[in-house]
Amino acid sequence: MRKEFDVLLLDVDGTLMDFNMAEKRGMEQVLRFYGIEPTTERLDRYHVINEQAWAAFERGEVTKEKLVTERFVTFFGEMGKSVDGQEAEDLYRSLLDKSDFLIDGALEICAYLRERYDLYIVTNGTSSTQYKRLAASGLDQYVKDIFVSEDAGSQKPQKEYFEYCFSRIPGADPSRMLLIGDSLHSDIQGGINGGCRTCWFNPEGRPALGEIRADYEIRRLEELKGFL
Ligand SMILES: [Mg+2]
Repeated sequence: MRKEFDVLLLDVDGTLMDFNMAEKRGMEQVLRFYGIEPTTERLDRYHVINEQAWAAFERGEVTKEKLVTERFVTFFGEMGKSVDGQEAEDLYRSLLDKSDFLIDGALEICAYLRERYDLYIVTNGTSSTQYKRLAASGLDQYVKDIFVSEDAGSQKPQKEYFEYCFSRIPGADPSRMLLIGDSLHSDIQGGINGGCRTCWFNPEGRPALGEIRADYEIRRLEELKGFL
């Protein structure tokens, strides 16, 4: 029987790699560097400030260069501590670059899928960091190429981002591609925008809100073997 797909497009954070753990471990060390105990409350507060900073970036209100330093100035400022935002960013970035926390079963499923499909990484993020993390985790050996939004000059779910990816995939035919990712907004909507089929990785079994519908849904990566 002819396979339904030739190419799998794989999201990284929240799908193959555990970014929340990378952020938590990194921020614990940044807080300690500035002599502050990394309590759960403080780590949660950083997470919120960081999300707000990225949302402002996506609305075009702030440059990426400014947001990555200002988030630390804001965060530490709330605790009455004045820090050099660039110094904090450099320290955090160096820790993030080394982070290799994987989602359960990620390496195994990539080894399995690589024998059957051409695998490509589709990820929003900072190019140098994503390349280093994919190498540190060993995931890079399974994929044909890595497409980072920073290099593309556009990001998921934008159609332009997927056009950038397709222009770099030999013989690209979106109708024979499956995109696998954990975000309905960036991955599943992105795949739909690009004309691919989609698989929602939903480990917590969250309800699908809004109009965005994936063709497949899984709670564990291993479930991909059921249909791929
Ligand atoms: Mg993700």
